[in-house]
Amino acid sequence: MDKKVLKAVTVFLGILTILVCVTFPFFPKLHTYAVAAREARETARANEHITIKRQDPEKVVEADNSMSAQLKIELPQGLTEQDISFENDYLDQTIYIRFPNGVDDYFADYSMSGSSDHIAGISYYKENGDGVIMMELDQVCELQDTVDSGYLYVNFIDPHEIYDKVVVIDAGHGAKAVGAVKQGIYEKDIDLAIVLELKKILDADTEDNIGVYYTRTDDSDPSLEKRVQLANKAKADLFISVHNNSSASGKMTGMNGTQVLYSESDDSELSSQRLAQICLDYVSSAFESTSIGLLPGDDIYIIRSSEVPVALVEVGFMTNADELAKLNSQEYQAKAAEGIYEAIKQAFEEGY
Ligand SMILES: [Zn+2]
Repeated sequence: MDKKVLKAVTVFLGILTILVCVTFPFFPKLHTYAVAAREARETARANEHITIKRQDPEKVVEADNSMSAQLKIELPQGLTEQDISFENDYLDQTIYIRFPNGVDDYFADYSMSGSSDHIAGISYYKENGDGVIMMELDQVCELQDTVDSGYLYVNFIDPHEIYDKVVVIDAGHGAKAVGAVKQGIYEKDIDLAIVLELKKILDADTEDNIGVYYTRTDDSDPSLEKRVQLANKAKADLFISVHNNSSASGKMTGMNGTQVLYSESDDSELSSQRLAQICLDYVSSAFESTSIGLLPGDDIYIIRSSEVPVALVEVGFMTNADELAKLNSQEYQAKAAEGIYEAIKQAFEEGY
């Protein structure tokens, strides 16, 4: 009897070992599926947003064909340039123009004229006594404003008119979405730390005229829809998302190295796959890690929804003790950032 049990256990363990060995190469892929499932949930949540009642720009903006991508906004009497404050929320492609002594209904009392080319929606509301004109744009715009004789003039400028190249950088996860957790270290914090190191490098680069937009530079968690829309609405030349990997089981293993996901449905000449390869080469070299290779990533929402060349860099494995120590050190976070920076420059060399 005991021998039978022993035999059964031996056979069972044998089968288990074979199963693990056979599926082992797919473990990173399984992690990808897990990420995709969580992303789908996040997207569903994000879709339940509160709707804001807004005006039709064509009704409230008096068309003036002499003005192109410019608005002329009448200001309440006595206001000067110093009274007006602007907020340009790139992530939402929404601008807020705030002024003191807000009236109840701006559109009833004042006029607005010009071209509403980039304006998808317009609203007015009062907040703490201030009047706020809120404009939803159909793309990321930079603004230029002047005040003259009681009117505010706002120019809407395509980032590509200002910058030679436009890049969108995404630090994975954020806030309650912590990503992988290992030894009390959250993936979201490492992703952000690497992106902030990259920001330091890009901010210091005054030679290349690169416009950079970030999905987050703090512990926030923009929806996946917003993250990818920032890249699409900025018509970014490159969209790079920074993440870190973990084994499928979440247990500490020997598996380590850099891996980059790309969109297999992007068959353009300057493809997502080529961008991913550039990122893989430069990041694994700078981060001194094993290059594991590329992985098709259309299961991931931000990859399949990107209309611009996209690469999702899994810098290293948090489930590998040595790599976790590197990922958690400022020295290697900076090295990973340097690798991404070099990859960006190389991509532009290649014509992206
Ligand atoms: Zn991640």
